[in-house]
Amino acid sequence: MTYCIRCGRALKAPTPTGMGSTCARKAQAVPVPDHDRDLFGYDIEKAVQAARYRLSVFIGTATVDAHIAVRRGFRLARERLLP
Ligand SMILES: [Zn+2]
Repeated sequence: MTYCIRCGRALKAPTPTGMGSTCARKAQAVPVPDHDRDLFGYDIEKAVQAARYRLSVFIGTATVDAHIAVRRGFRLARERLLP
């Protein structure tokens, strides 16, 4: 049994990305930049850019998750109120 590298859910079959379809879709929304250390040492500008990028991805996925949770909550509340 393999597990999604992002949310940890069990996957029916291993995928090339290591993520389930939902997480792969969320991760695809933001393309991955190529940031490396430069040849002679640590590039602080690139490190800052990479940190900002990682933060933006984290915030982006957290926002998507929150929107989904709010939508689900509204749907459940509506179903309870208007059966
Ligand atoms: Zn997942």
